[in-house]
Amino acid sequence: MARVALVTGGTRGIGAAIAKRLKKDGYAAVVCDVVDEQLAQFKADTGIPAYKIDVSNYESVAEGVKKISEEVGPVDILVNNAGITRDARFVKMTREKNWDPVIAVNLTSAFNTCNVCLPGMTERKWGRIINISSMNGQRGQFGQTNYSATKAGIIGFSRSLAEEAARGGVTVNVICPGFILTEMTAAMPKEILDGEVKKIPMGRIGSPDDIAAGVAFLASEDAAWITGQTISINGGQLMP
Ligand code: NAP
Repeated sequence: MARVALVTGGTRGIGAAIAKRLKKDGYAAVVCDVVDEQLAQFKADTGIPAYKIDVSNYESVAEGVKKISEEVGPVDILVNNAGITRDARFVKMTREKNWDPVIAVNLTSAFNTCNVCLPGMTERKWGRIINISSMNGQRGQFGQTNYSATKAGIIGFSRSLAEEAARGGVTVNVICPGFILTEMTAAMPKEILDGEVKKIPMGRIGSPDDIAAGVAFLASEDAAWITGQTISINGGQLMP
């Protein structure tokens, strides 16, 4: 039976590319997201099962993963991709608008999904957890103290979890995308985006498929002895 791969925030952008790539590679890919119409549209367009799960809410994750287990199978590969930005200069940030939601969706989500999925993976002695961080968690970015804190947090979280999960046959790794063309980056002011592209040695913005290829490798048997690693996919913009 095909291994089940859950991609959070998977109906658009990088997550959608990851889910489609994993399906193409023969996995039983499923996605989750929060907007009903998007879920229905994605399922109709791709044939990939799409579940309504708010990753920032523990009960929603627990219920959603239980449903996926019953309808598709237990989750073997977990891709924590869902993420949001609420950019502002730090002095203009508020807890309610900028800080709490970003911590909840980008960081607490990893607690929720891993806490729910890891025990089953360990029991079955096989699992892959792939967490999507960001170049801006490795280097910092003006206007993103909140976002960078979560993305750096994901790296520390993943290293510690990798230590704990290894004996159970579960690898935990991080991918740090650089600038990737999605709705998230399209929302950036054009002059900032153009300026960033000029700094990319490979001379172009990344595509969601560039990230999906990295996820596909980490999910594969070829990556069985890779754990606790942070892989930068950024066209050479940052070489940490
Ligand atoms: P995106 O186009 O904004 O997609 C994010 C997805 O997450 C959307 O499908 C969104 O759902 C979903 N989502 C938001 N809140 C959620 C929640 N509470 N529960 C479940 N799903 C939720 O973003 P993207 O550019 O593809 O980015 C994907 C990941 O890569 C993020 O973690 C991001 O931080 C990271 N990243 C992106 C870039 C880049 O250049 N694009 C660079 C570095 C890192 P809705 O459609 O309902 O909002």
